[in-house]
Parts: sequence; C-alpha cells; structure tokens
Amino acid sequence: MPLAPSIRSRFRSLSILILLGLMLNLIVSWSLLLIPRYSAAADLRIVQFRNPNTEYPHDAIFSVIHQWFGVHEHQFYLTRRSRSRDLPKRTSIYWTWLPWDSDPDAITRGNELFTSFAPEHPDHAIISTTRVGFPSLAMETQSLVDDFSLLSNGSLRTESHYGFISRVDGVAGTTKPGIWPHAPYILFPYKPIWIGFAINTVFYTTLVSMLIWTVRQIKHARRMRRGRCPHCDYELHHDFRDGCPECGWRRVQAKAEQ
Ligand SMILES: [Zn+2]
Repeated sequence: MPLAPSIRSRFRSLSILILLGLMLNLIVSWSLLLIPRYSAAADLRIVQFRNPNTEYPHDAIFSVIHQWFGVHEHQFYLTRRSRSRDLPKRTSIYWTWLPWDSDPDAITRGNELFTSFAPEHPDHAIISTTRVGFPSLAMETQSLVDDFSLLSNGSLRTESHYGFISRVDGVAGTTKPGIWPHAPYILFPYKPIWIGFAINTVFYTTLVSMLIWTVRQIKHARRMRRGRCPHCDYELHHDFRDGCPECGWRRVQAKAEQ
C-alpha cells in the first residue's frame, strides 16, 4: 500500500487544522465577552410580557435583550426596575446570528429559568441567558444575580448553570439592570450551541487553511524567483524543467510524461 502514508499524513494535517479551527472558535467566543467589559455600547430592548395562562407561576415577566458584536444576552426579571444609568449608544451592529433558534417566547423561557434556578428572592433576581460566538452564537450560559442582600464581602449572590460567574460587586448590583450587567465581572459560558459551534469551527478551519495556503504560495513563489526548488529550497539555478533531484518535486510527473 504505497499510498497509505500520504493519506495518513493528509488525515493528520486535516485533524490539526480542525483542531486549530475549534480552538480559535473557543478563544474568540470567550474573548468576545471582554468587549462589553470595556465598552458601554449595546443595543437594548425592554419588553414586558403578561401571560394570560395561569399555569405558569409568574404571570408577568420583564425582559431585556442586550446585543453587541458576538454577544447576545437576554435578561428576565419579575419586577420593573428603574434604570439609574443613561441608555447606551444604540448601535445595531450585531454581526452575530443563531440559525434555527429554538428559543421560545420570553414568558415561557422566563418561567423555565425561574423554575430551574428557584431563587430565594424571586422579586430581586435577575436571570440571564448569555450566548456568545462569532460568526454564529456558539456557547451559552445561564446566570442569576440576587440583589436583595449584600454578602459579607460586599458582593451579591450569584449562581450559574453551564458557566462560571464571579461574584457581582454590590455597587454594580444597585444599578441593575445595568447597561451591561455582566460587564464588571467574569462570565464564562461552556454549554455548546451545537449548530453554531459546528458552523464556527468550519469557519475558522477554512480561515486557517486559507491563511496557511496563502503563506505557502508566497513562500514558493519567492523561492522560484530565486531559482530554487519551491518545496525544499534546493538550488536549481532556474532550471525547473526536470524538477528537483533533492525532494522529487515535479519528478514523478516528469517521468510519467516521458
Ligand atoms: Zn526540492
């Protein structure tokens, strides 16, 4: 089986490329949450939903959506809260999408979240779903901030499902729901949104492959201009007809043509 080693090496380089694409996908997704930490810019929508269906424990849910480049945060809470900060710049740069989003309506989602977190002080709880990723949303977390009582170290009670959330600073908590409630603290989502995860991995794998290909083409062209073998840099004195005696570049092809 003379072809086996080349197939194996191709398979190996493809695996490395996919791994690189996967890592880039993760790094970009997690890094995107740094943007709202340093910028107040966000698009914000507040909607109140009233539920006529009494089977739900909560018949009114307030909902805010914050969106920014590669970040989509949906907040849910039970009582209307005054905003003590100015509205942010209303910039509609999302550039992030989630194909086949199965997220149900806010009242159903809000009730599900409040049931799953079962907060000690429901009227003081803000539950958020945060999804990040580019070009598609790829990672998700759910988090709760309870601003009813300050903990002994001055922070607020927090909780997270499928993610990590650091304790929220009490001062930041008093302005809730802030422009970017997650801005002052660390949020780390680790639940994959599979469709977005796959799309992003393919996207970054393609990107890495194109980059490697371009760099290789430039390198080969430069070697040939210097009269050397494009593959191994062996000195050919601009005589490319017979290929390279060192690495066999164009040799197999040339022999077959004879
Ligand atoms: Zn060569």
